[in-house]
Order: sequence, then structure tokens, then C-alpha cells
Amino acid sequence: MYTFAYKGKRYTTYLNYTVAGIYIHIPFCKKACFYCDFHFSVSLKHKADLVAAIQKELVRRKTYFEPNEKIASIYFGGGTPSVLLFHEIDEILGAVYENYTVSPQVEITFECNPDDLSLEYLKMLKMVGINRLSIGLQSFNEEHLTWMNRSHTALQSIQCVHDAAIVGFKDITIDLIYGLPHLQNEEWRATIKKALALPINHLSAYSLTMEENTPYHKLVQQKKYQEPDEDFTSGHYDILIEEIDAAGWQHYEVSNFCKNDNYSKHNTAYWQQKKYLGVGPSAHSYDLQSRSFNVSNNAMYLEYIAANKKTYEIEELTAQNRLNETLLTGLRAIWGVDLAEILKTHNYDILKLYAEELAYWQSVNWVQLHGTILRLTDKGLLFADYIASELFADEDHSSHTSS
Ligand code: SF4
Repeated sequence: MYTFAYKGKRYTTYLNYTVAGIYIHIPFCKKACFYCDFHFSVSLKHKADLVAAIQKELVRRKTYFEPNEKIASIYFGGGTPSVLLFHEIDEILGAVYENYTVSPQVEITFECNPDDLSLEYLKMLKMVGINRLSIGLQSFNEEHLTWMNRSHTALQSIQCVHDAAIVGFKDITIDLIYGLPHLQNEEWRATIKKALALPINHLSAYSLTMEENTPYHKLVQQKKYQEPDEDFTSGHYDILIEEIDAAGWQHYEVSNFCKNDNYSKHNTAYWQQKKYLGVGPSAHSYDLQSRSFNVSNNAMYLEYIAANKKTYEIEELTAQNRLNETLLTGLRAIWGVDLAEILKTHNYDILKLYAEELAYWQSVNWVQLHGTILRLTDKGLLFADYIASELFADEDHSSHTSS
């Protein structure tokens, strides 16, 4: 275990999150946010069937984990899980508890939209065992919410967080979006301040991106909307980092921030290459050797489950894939990657092969080396994917290794 200091705080290189997780995809939304390319349907007609099918998949894939592998994280994502009713959440969780070994300290995160979070609904979530809320708040500005075709109002964005705290939720994270064309710098700064003053301990902030096959993409093609502007967006990112620092919060992953070490266990497990099972249409799974991808179509998913057919495609990972994924995901987070571990596991000597690049990135304060731990600075995190890809191994990476 190696610890290092950054911005006056001590970090341990690897968290003690040797966790396995389960992700449950709820593929329904009330409205389609115009930038979103996740898998969901705005018709809730088959919701009950889907909930039953997800339970069947949980039973069918129970051998994905060894009986002694404890599930430390359960994550309801989507789509919008808050379209679910009490008994639907209870039944899904029941299927998890009956078929898997769940840690007593399990983190159970539930993604929700502000307009679903009445006091009654929040109390019900608490009662059913949810202990962490992830609220898709995105903005406090009515016009921006309308522009994005969000289903909630600005008032609901604020009220629901206070109500969640009143009901007793201690672990609350919210999502914000920046880089919106009409979001001026000072408004963005005020938005962050307002968010950090809420009773939350975690924040995810994402820049607006234009994904293919989204209404946003079509509108830009029709010249009705502007594309996100990179300089404008990176200005928002700088403001975000300034405000996070000023509030004494931790920037622990490219887009994720927390106070008092309240990292997302579930996502940290992704970044640290831990095993997870994903159930429901479009969900992915990873067992350290292969990835599997469920079909991204509700009707087909229902059909496969009913016919007892496989719902997923498998991709076996080569050593090269695993090494590059370790770099790509590991460098996104504050703990970085251990180059000695990579040398030992993959016989790939990054310190020797990329001495020049590492020296340059250190000189421009993009990376830091703490012994053999390579980690990115706040500035470097903005280029995390680029830096990781520069260090990628090619197919016969053994030919590049030190002798
Ligand atoms: S609520 Fe979430 S999943 Fe649904 S359309 Fe909006 S961003 Fe996408």
C-alpha cells in the first residue's frame, strides 16, 4: 500500500474496495433528454414484464460470482429507475439477496429524477433498503432544463435534495451538466456553489457532448443548435475545479467529486477493474477475463429471457486489451496506476518505454510519479484518455519491453 499527499490531503494508492458489484439497468424514461444516447424507452407499457425478466436473469446468472464473492455494491441505473414502484424494487432486490452473497455493508445506489422524488417515494426507497441516491439534477435553470427536454423543474431540482436529507439519506450524489451553449461562466460558478451548499456528499459533473443518433445531433446537423465549443467547455471545467478546491472537496475522478472520502464504491470498482455483473437490456458485465453485453432492445431482451436464450454477446479480452483498459480506467482516477504492477503482470515497462513522454507531462504538470505510481493532476485529468492512449501497448507489446 502506498500513500501520497495531494492538495494537502493524503491518499492511499488503492482503496480497499476489493468489491464485486451488480448493475441493474432500468430501460425506461418519461421523456427523452435530447443529448442522451443511453438505452431506454419512453413507453412504460412493458415495465412489469421487464422487472420480471430482470429477476429471471439474476437467477440465471448467479454463477457469475463464486459463492464466497461478496456483493459490495448494487446499482440501479438507466434509464430512470425512479419509474419503478415499491414492490418492483423490492422484488428485484429480493432476487439479488436470494441468489448472491451480499455484504452487510453493501452500497445500494438508486438513480432518480427530481420529479419522481415525492416525500412518500423517498420514504419508500429508504424502507426498501436503498442507501445512496444519485439524482439527475443537471441544472437549476428552468430554461436550460427545457432546452435539454428534462422532465423536471428547477424548483424540483432543489426541493428533492432537501427532502431526501429530511427522510434520512446521508449519501446523496447529484449530476450536473456544463458546456451548455447558453450557460455563462458566472452562472455556472453560481450553479456549482448552489450545488455544493445542498446536503450532498458527492457530485458528478459532465460536459455536454453530442452523441450520434440523438435529437441533439440531428438539430446540430439541421443548423438549429450549436455544437459544444471545446474552449468554452474547458473554461467551465476550470471553474468547476476552482470551486471544488475552494469548498475543500476532493476531485477523485475526471468527472467525479466528493467530500470526506465519500467515493462512489460502484464506480470506483469500475475504474479499478473489479468484477461486476450487469443485468437488464444493454447492461455490460466484466469478469476480469471477458466482457459481456446484453442486447440493447427491450422486446428482444424479453423474448430471449422467455425462450431461455442467452441475452448477451461475449468478448474475450486479450492481455493487450486488459493492459490498455487498466491504463484507460486507472488513469481517470486520483489513485492512478502502479507501473511496477503493470511490469510484473504484463511485462510492459512504461517507465523505460515512455521516459521522454513522462518527463514532458511532468514538466507541464499533467502527471505525477510517486515511486512507481503514475497519476494525473487536475490539469492532466482533462487529457486522461489522450495520455492513456499514448501509453497503450500494441498487440505484440512484449517486443517493446525492457530486457
Ligand atoms: S433521464 Fe437520463 S437516461 Fe433518461 S433520457 Fe434523460 S439523461 Fe437519458
